[in-house]
Amino acid sequence: MSDVKLCIHRAADTIGGNCIEIAVPSGERILLDAGRPLDTPDDAPTPIPASLDIGGQVLGVLLSHAHTDHCGLLGVLPASWPVFCGEATEVLLNLSAVLRKESIRQQCTHWRSGKALSIGPFTITPYLIDHSAFDAYALQIDVGGKRILYSGDFRAHGRKATLTKELIKNPPKNLDVLIMEGTNLPASGTTAKGTATEAELEEDFVRLFKESKGRIFVSWSSTNIDRTVTLYRACIRSGRVLVPDLFCVMVLMRLGKFAKIPQPDWEGGHMRAVVTSRMKYLAEPLGEPDIVDNLKKYNAAMSAARLDKTPEKWVIMTRNSLVDDFIRKGVMPNKNDVWVWSQWKGYLEQESSQKMKDFFVHCPMEYIHSSGHASPDVLQLFAESMRPKILIPVHGEAWREHKALFSNIQILQNGDWLEL
Ligand SMILES: [Zn+2]
Repeated sequence: MSDVKLCIHRAADTIGGNCIEIAVPSGERILLDAGRPLDTPDDAPTPIPASLDIGGQVLGVLLSHAHTDHCGLLGVLPASWPVFCGEATEVLLNLSAVLRKESIRQQCTHWRSGKALSIGPFTITPYLIDHSAFDAYALQIDVGGKRILYSGDFRAHGRKATLTKELIKNPPKNLDVLIMEGTNLPASGTTAKGTATEAELEEDFVRLFKESKGRIFVSWSSTNIDRTVTLYRACIRSGRVLVPDLFCVMVLMRLGKFAKIPQPDWEGGHMRAVVTSRMKYLAEPLGEPDIVDNLKKYNAAMSAARLDKTPEKWVIMTRNSLVDDFIRKGVMPNKNDVWVWSQWKGYLEQESSQKMKDFFVHCPMEYIHSSGHASPDVLQLFAESMRPKILIPVHGEAWREHKALFSNIQILQNGDWLEL
């Protein structure tokens, strides 16, 4: 026994809300992710896991990526707990905090993929991995002679699939523990979610954009850059213009220094931000008070009222918070338009989506999406290639049903400590 111990405080048997602790006998400890459960009502504070001691210090809160179910607990954790994450992840954390009228109080230190860093007795090696979040990592932790790999969220069918495939081909050696997500292991009576590639989705969008005579309204996540790229490319191929909201445009501009992703001033004019009154208030807190004027300068901003003219031209981002602004400006979807849901279906069932459902009541709907998470086959392949002495499941609802597919599996309950 090495005296290193590990506890899943949350997400042992649920999707999202991850909070995992690794501790050594001296009391030094780190957290892997600090997530908000996906079923927390919008207006409720993020619940702190009962087994997590927030009285003492931690050496670091390591964030695998900027999805709320992995970082949304930060707001209620002590400001003195230092955060470690990718540089672009911090950019996304700050942007999302502004939407919630909050700020990130913790100090962030950035890591670089493949470069080990020491945090007290812990050595952390982050590996950039393919996921629907930009800047997502799997994390290797070496401590007390033990080697642990935390997969974070991952897949092998996105635009950065080679990153996951590389890790599968060259796994860390002598792994004691693999903590792996299992989002797409289907619960009984359900089927695994679709794992089409972004290139395949692009074909679906091009077909739809060309066939339709009206406007295409698309509900997708501003931080799903793979999807924004797919929509942008489909717009170019079908002669349409992508119309994201101001927040999405700011995400693209801020992340532009990390990767070659669509920008509103790119030649060809295939992107134009829709500027609505609710979104305008974000410019100041986001530190871009002149953004609307700047976008107008190169014809990359427009008002919602213009969406009624030349309807065959537009592919319009739609989310709950835009609906009231659209209605005020007379934007009313009709039977010639199409509403595309391009994110997790579960969000559609939530009460907060009712406003959008009402808005699109006279409009046909399509579902064009691919999961941000690995298929069951890839999960198996990943676990087999890592060859861990113990596989600890996390971030899944149906691990018990699929236990037989995996070797050396040890299912923990939330709050249980495992000595390694
Ligand atoms: Zn995620």
